Amino acid sequence: PTVFDVQRIRADFPLLARTVYGKPLVYLDNANTSQKPASVIETVSEHYRQHNANVARAVHQLGDEATAAYEGARDKLARFINATSRNELILTSGTTQATNMVAYSYVLPRLQPGDAVLTTVMEHHANIVPWQLVAQRAGATVKAAPINERGELIVEKFIEMLTPEVKLACVTHVSNVLGTVNPIRELARECRKRGIPLMVDGSQAVPHRPVDVQALGCDFYAMTGHKMLGPTGTGALWARREHLQAMPPFFGGGEMIREVRFDGTTFAEAPHKFEAGTPNIAGFVGLGAAIDYYQSIGFEAIHAWEQQLLSYATERLRDIPGLRIIGEAAEKEPVISFLLEGAQATDLATLLDLEGVAVRSGHHCAHPLMQFYGVPATLRASLAFYNTREEIDAFVTALLKVRKLLL
Ligand code: PMP
Repeated sequence: PTVFDVQRIRADFPLLARTVYGKPLVYLDNANTSQKPASVIETVSEHYRQHNANVARAVHQLGDEATAAYEGARDKLARFINATSRNELILTSGTTQATNMVAYSYVLPRLQPGDAVLTTVMEHHANIVPWQLVAQRAGATVKAAPINERGELIVEKFIEMLTPEVKLACVTHVSNVLGTVNPIRELARECRKRGIPLMVDGSQAVPHRPVDVQALGCDFYAMTGHKMLGPTGTGALWARREHLQAMPPFFGGGEMIREVRFDGTTFAEAPHKFEAGTPNIAGFVGLGAAIDYYQSIGFEAIHAWEQQLLSYATERLRDIPGLRIIGEAAEKEPVISFLLEGAQATDLATLLDLEGVAVRSGHHCAHPLMQFYGVPATLRASLAFYNTREEIDAFVTALLKVRKLLL
């Protein structure tokens, strides 16, 4: 058995000690946003207390310190996902900004009427709607590769759908609703053979597993900081250098230019070409601390513990009569969507909240996936490495209690 000192880890997360309605908090909404360790909170606070200045604009000491800390976070992120260069990392407000940047700067200029973007049925709206917006402008379409009842991508169908009109394929690394892990290496290999770039939505993968963008073989990788222990409003787009060189900027403004003239402006090189305006400096400095925190524990230990929790929670839920788990892929990260016969997901979530248990109910920004399963909503318990078996017990006890109130 893995030795994992979860109590010591929990002590690093101040919020986990609080109560809700007088009950100890059981936070199982980690796929929505993670809690933050004290090191992240203190790093952000220390930045504002001691180093606050704008980046890359001032010659004074504070400006240098802020710039070093902000660019240091880019270095950490680049190493964290094994980018070949720090210049391949665009710092964004999150995955949503990253997918929109790719949609407008990469996809739109390449779309002709009749072209397509290929995605899958299990995507988050952030990986559907941007493609629809640009496809509409160009007279192109968005196609979705199907999944099976277990919530796994049907890889052969995906491959069949990689036809010459497809100008970009984009797939989530891990489903935010089902926890399914997609076989990105294989998909990337197939895309590459056909000269179709592959974008990966890494929002739900990066918090749980080591990501190596070179080994994955994709072209673009998007991530969001607030789900990986970092502050809200942080995230990144990694892209191969040749793509970044070929892409026009998405936002225009300060700090992304070489020279501005009314008869023609020239742009800075990537990544700065894509980072107009003052960024979320303190947020990224905090995200750097989040990466340090992951590395101090290590993904091997995190993965082993989370998989134990996932199996335990799945087993306990399967014992509940009338409970249906949605998404039973062979390889999953610790996300469990489920329905309980005779009770609405939102009613259950509201009553669970009164017991101190935070779960999400709803469509999870994945309408097409809900349509596939023919349900309006699910309840979702999503775990992090700071969760415990005792919390899962408390969650199951609360679920059985609130269910009685609804039947
Ligand atoms: N993709 C997936 C798979 C997600 O889970 C989320 C967040 N729920 C997003 C994209 C969007 O991330 P953000 O809102 O941080 O931009």
